[in-house]
Amino acid sequence: MKNIDDKDLHYLRRCVELAKEALYAGNQPFGSVLVSAEGKVLFEGHNEEVTKGDQTRHPEFEIARWAATHMTSEDRAKAVVYTSGEHCAMCSAAHGWVGLGRIVYVSLPSS
Ligand SMILES: [Zn+2]
Repeated sequence: MKNIDDKDLHYLRRCVELAKEALYAGNQPFGSVLVSAEGKVLFEGHNEEVTKGDQTRHPEFEIARWAATHMTSEDRAKAVVYTSGEHCAMCSAAHGWVGLGRIVYVSLPSS
């Protein structure tokens, strides 16, 4: 396990912004960003379950689909997925099936 650094916090904050966009659009508040090994943002998205009428429209699942189509297996393994919450079972499986690398997610204390 690797500790998070300032670069990770930057992308995690972007995930929270995307989660807010999802919430304001009427969806569940989740946002995710895919970053290459070189630090380039490749794909970002937020939950669209309600607005698209499809329960699989999680941003982590969209990232897995995008990565499978647009990246080599070597690049997928080196990429990092940042997300506003821990992957659900569906997205965890998709992440593993397409061979993506590290996952960094936000965890908020319950109040
Ligand atoms: Zn999911």
